Amino acid sequence: MTSITQSTSSSSELQEFLARPQKILIDGLWTDASSGETFDIFNPATGDVIAKVPRGNNDDIDRAVDAARRAFDTSNWTRWRPNKREELLWRISERISELAHEFAELESLDNGKPVGIAAAFDVRASADCFRYYAGWPSKIQGSVNNPSMLLAPEEAEFHSFTRHEPVGVCGQIIPWNFPLLMAAWKIAPALATGNTVVLKPAEQTPTTALLLGQVLVDAGVPAGVVNIVTGYGDIGAAISEHPGVDKVAFTGSTEVGKKIVAASSGNLKKVSLELGGKSPNIVFEDADIDSAVAGVLQGFTLNSGQACEAGTRVFVHESIYDDFNNALADQVRALTVGPGNDPASDITPLVSQEQLDRVVGYLEAGKEAGAVALVGGNRHGDSGYFVEPTVFTDTTEDMSIVQEEIFGPVAVSIPFSDDSEVIDAANRSHYGLAAGLWTKDLSRAHRVANRLNAGSVWVNTFHALDSALPFGGYHQSGWGRELGAESIELYTQVKSVTMAI
Ligand code: NAP
Ligand code: MG
Repeated sequence: MTSITQSTSSSSELQEFLARPQKILIDGLWTDASSGETFDIFNPATGDVIAKVPRGNNDDIDRAVDAARRAFDTSNWTRWRPNKREELLWRISERISELAHEFAELESLDNGKPVGIAAAFDVRASADCFRYYAGWPSKIQGSVNNPSMLLAPEEAEFHSFTRHEPVGVCGQIIPWNFPLLMAAWKIAPALATGNTVVLKPAEQTPTTALLLGQVLVDAGVPAGVVNIVTGYGDIGAAISEHPGVDKVAFTGSTEVGKKIVAASSGNLKKVSLELGGKSPNIVFEDADIDSAVAGVLQGFTLNSGQACEAGTRVFVHESIYDDFNNALADQVRALTVGPGNDPASDITPLVSQEQLDRVVGYLEAGKEAGAVALVGGNRHGDSGYFVEPTVFTDTTEDMSIVQEEIFGPVAVSIPFSDDSEVIDAANRSHYGLAAGLWTKDLSRAHRVANRLNAGSVWVNTFHALDSALPFGGYHQSGWGRELGAESIELYTQVKSVTMAI
């Protein structure tokens, strides 16, 4: 059984964890993949192998779904009292905080992101997510309704009420950009509402999900309630089409989101999707320019641009366009590109060779199409998966760098002349995840926020994510909203009960 039980932290402990044979979690037991196969996990800063994890296959998914089904149908998990569920979620949150250092180091090693950011954001936000959902079980309420019952005799009386019940076995498929946090966003509301889970982490970054699995077991999550199977996309597909799965929750590319929708049709499982984005970040002429430059910079460089909500289409009013671009370019040049374990690094490596190739492909396509790299535009160095943070100007709307999600530290800067023009341009996207706007004019802020087609609009700030705020997208950025009360809705279904009395 894989176990990190010490709360004291050191790199050597982490090395010890990584040196152990990793296992998958099925029915409360840590096991090998049924094939016995494993696959390598790489350090993005060096390309070195840091761990081997089991390569789960369809048989493992069948075993995991069976375990989740049994836990849902035959254990008393769904009938746990709310306060017991709250205590469990709270213990998980506390344990993540105790292991914050291990989680942050491991996340950085696996994904490449700065250890400091992993600690300050990813791990804290994951603990916060469990803490937030620890507050929910006792507040989930139905209603008492007043039906007219048209066919019943006048003197008949009825009592009707609603219950919010768990959906059942939930397949959860998550990406590599915020590996621990995405596991938390999925698992915490599912447990708060009494579902059972089969989680598939991304093939690039499965290690923190396995460490989280240990936390869940230690905290007292019953056998079969959360199962974690590592592997490739084929097992994501197996979860999506599995007749024993009642709901799939997915975060990742729009392309795979569409495959999941198609695969889920066999048993019409419920589907929630958090997909890609190409978010606009709009700087009006009356904005506080220093804050706007800092916010735009953070908007497209956080997590080296590997964030679905990244503000990668920067619209700047024509009257300040050149000055703004020059100030932004100066800030970009001041960024340090380096590994996640160096506190000086601002831009850390992309997650994989594949992602490096994809992002460099976009940089080349942008230059070939005639866009000008005001700053950056190339791979950084020749080892590890680093790219230069890049701002393009002189773009046209048909260019792939303007239309498509790049998932690297790359923005395009586009001038505009008035509010309605920029609202239309910002909305001309098949995505609609987030949008930022920078202005001191309160009326303009409200008007523009109302008109932007995006699930989250941020005024004079960016990346404003919080456990209490719903998150998700318009258009092809997804279905449904995660976090806040909305995730409670995603993981429950409503039953009305009517009694003739
Ligand atoms: P992806 O393929 O969408 O991967 C996300 C998750 O889906 C992973 O766990 C993946 O498994 C799994 N998966 C792959 N094929 C599947 C299938 N047919 N059915 C069910 N699950 C499947 O994303 P990616 O290839 O890693 O990245 C490609 C692009 O997606 C990025 O460049 C970026 O534009 C976008 N992306 C968006 C987000 C986001 O937060 N919205 C996150 C990551 C990537 P494997 O890991 O084994 O492939
Ligand atoms: Mg993939």
